[in-house]
Amino acid sequence: MDYAKNKEKVSLIGLCLDELRSLSEQVGEKTFRGQQLFDWIYRKNIDDYNLMTNLPGTFITELSEKYKFHPLVLAHCSESKKEPTKKFLFRTENGHMIESVLMHDGNRSTVCLSTQVGCAVDCQFCATAQMGFLKNLTAGEIIDQFIQIRSIIEEPPINVVFMGMGEPFLNYRSVIQAAELLHQPDGINLGFDRITISTVGIVPKIKRYTQEGHRYKLAISLNGVSQEQRLMIMPISKAHTLDDLLAAARKYASISRRKLTIEYVLIEKLNDSPEDAKTLKRLLRDIRCKLNLIPYNEIGGPYRRPNDDRINAFLAQLQNVSFPVTVRWSKGTDIDAGCGQLAIKENIIND
Ligand code: SF4
Repeated sequence: MDYAKNKEKVSLIGLCLDELRSLSEQVGEKTFRGQQLFDWIYRKNIDDYNLMTNLPGTFITELSEKYKFHPLVLAHCSESKKEPTKKFLFRTENGHMIESVLMHDGNRSTVCLSTQVGCAVDCQFCATAQMGFLKNLTAGEIIDQFIQIRSIIEEPPINVVFMGMGEPFLNYRSVIQAAELLHQPDGINLGFDRITISTVGIVPKIKRYTQEGHRYKLAISLNGVSQEQRLMIMPISKAHTLDDLLAAARKYASISRRKLTIEYVLIEKLNDSPEDAKTLKRLLRDIRCKLNLIPYNEIGGPYRRPNDDRINAFLAQLQNVSFPVTVRWSKGTDIDAGCGQLAIKENIIND
């Protein structure tokens, strides 16, 4: 393959149906050819022009000269020895590296996608923060993680979470475009409830998401029960205070009539006391939500995961609450694929 020439080509993955239709028109083809192309790429999962048997030869010649399929190259895959979890390392066209994680739980599989290269949000408990922010991913780069993983595993993933590297709501448009492509019924066809967008609490974007009426699931990482606690580990709380965040969360849950997921990373002696649990119970009592407690995955910094006794004492305070509570033990921590562990040591790999 001529890599220099291939790099100059535009990626088809990431283009929506309307864009593929107008692309067809631009090269002198009928609009419906765009629909056929959409069907091959997203529904049939084909990335070889030779297999697209209903497209005319002239169209294929034109496409193959200017367009490629994938914006990403799969560089590496590692597999956990402890759980059925795999971590995938992808290279973008400009040499940045990103990671995605595939987790199996019984016969359910979930893929966790990255939305940015690095992250500017600087949560103190997160390895991605240590990379700094390098770039927003395009919708194509986001969805190609899913498409390439789908191609190499036996059963396609049934759930997608935007919870990998980056803050999804700081790359809002591309994330929504990627979610739409995942949902499109005549394409990949994942139900709204199969797609979760997770944010650390970018309040104006939560308001926008609510106003726009999106039906994908929303998760908010709360991680603290007071402004002081959140500020200690999430500097973004200075601009997006706990009060504002809870008000936006409450409004989302009431307007959308959907159950919000509240994520709460349990960090030893920081936010894991029984008093913290009582406060959490009070803060969430009038929000339609479910609570996911995530025992912290250590990354070599100052924070520790609470022991089982502390976790159980926290949980004991949450008996008989009006919302469901689950403890989510991250998978793939032996390959640094757990929540908050994704980070690329070397950000740019030269071609
Ligand atoms: S937890 Fe999310 S938002 Fe915070 S630094 Fe890590 S990737 Fe960014």
